[in-house]
Amino acid sequence: MGAVDTEFAEAKGRSMPSKEQFVRVLLVDDDEDMYILTRQLLRQAPGTSYEIDWVPTAQEALDELGQQYDIVLLDYVLHEATGLEVLREIVRKRPHLPVIILTAHGNREIDVEALNAGAADYIAKSELNPNLLDRSIRYALERSLKLRELEQLADRLQVANARLSHKNEELEQFIYMASHDFREPLRQIMSFSEFLRRDIGHTLSGRAEQSLNFMVGAAKRMDDLVEALAKLLRASRKEITRVRVSLDQCVDRALEELTERVRTSNATIIRDPMPHARCEPTSMAHLFQNLIDNALKYCDKPHPEIHLTAEKGGQKWILGVKDNGCGIAQEHYNKIFSPFRRLHRRDQCEGTGIGLAICKKVVEAHGGEIWVESEVGKGSHFKFTLGATGFTTNTTDDLEETP
Ligand code: ADP
Repeated sequence: MGAVDTEFAEAKGRSMPSKEQFVRVLLVDDDEDMYILTRQLLRQAPGTSYEIDWVPTAQEALDELGQQYDIVLLDYVLHEATGLEVLREIVRKRPHLPVIILTAHGNREIDVEALNAGAADYIAKSELNPNLLDRSIRYALERSLKLRELEQLADRLQVANARLSHKNEELEQFIYMASHDFREPLRQIMSFSEFLRRDIGHTLSGRAEQSLNFMVGAAKRMDDLVEALAKLLRASRKEITRVRVSLDQCVDRALEELTERVRTSNATIIRDPMPHARCEPTSMAHLFQNLIDNALKYCDKPHPEIHLTAEKGGQKWILGVKDNGCGIAQEHYNKIFSPFRRLHRRDQCEGTGIGLAICKKVVEAHGGEIWVESEVGKGSHFKFTLGATGFTTNTTDDLEETP
């Protein structure tokens, strides 16, 4: 029996047959002389050992398909049916069994038709020789193996996609619950505490009032954290749609949102001209807003100085937000990009510890990286890239950025 199993999928990691193995061939041809000739040619084949069986009719060929053949050589013209009809039947019954069509003379139309119907190859009988036959069979087997592997990959991809969309649905439900259901009880605690304060506030002792304030404060913080969590989950799930924009416009939007904060904190903002980029403008504006907001928030100097930087490092643009704030010790450089990780206590600076985690998600969704360089007491420089295809042109020289 054939040593090369027809179901190549099961032969995972197995290479093509060597001389020690043999390939089992079924020849379908109504001419016995053709069988004798093919058997002889296969014996002389240089690369592989072959074992050949012969059937003269289409019906016998189809009956034989239950056998473990590795490949079929099929005559294009049979007495009772055309080779094409038999080919279609074989492809239907055994889609992974390679079939090579043998034609009396080369005929382009027949050849194309045979390939379209699923033949692995075609050979004109007049051109048959050991090398050609051996090579054609080996290619057909190799192709069938690769096709099967591809099909398996596609199947796995489909399963993974189905799993992913199921997970996304679950995440979607969780985000909905986090934004609505989880926050509802917290809002009730806050409202009823206010009713309590209104109704009996004047009778409360100083300590009781303090406890009430702690309770409201804790509920508010919990509400902020739940909202932050929902924001983070939304950012993880978001698929970005890139459009080409000037990043200066994104910076404009970010600064517009922060007008009051910039004014009251007495900050100076210096802006480098930004390049154009293929990105999602809203996410990009939020990214700048988060980083500028932090630069203002974590500044211990009377005059915050914020520099929005844009420098070209090789093929990439590196953008950044530099401040003269309190700085960050090197051991915390990575930590601060994880959700809910803060270096400041609540009584020093309000926050949920989610801003930089969202910045990281936005940058990574654009194929880029974000990091910080800093010196404690002197300031920090948050830098990011947008991946190889992120930036398109320079504002000044209009250079193509993509490599
Ligand atoms: P949040 O500001 O809500 O705490 P972030 O994720 O934006 O959350 O920041 C995480 C932590 O990183 C902050 O709590 C702060 O300790 C530190 N940090 C962020 N930006 C700066 C900055 N520009 N200078 C110094 N420390 C910073």
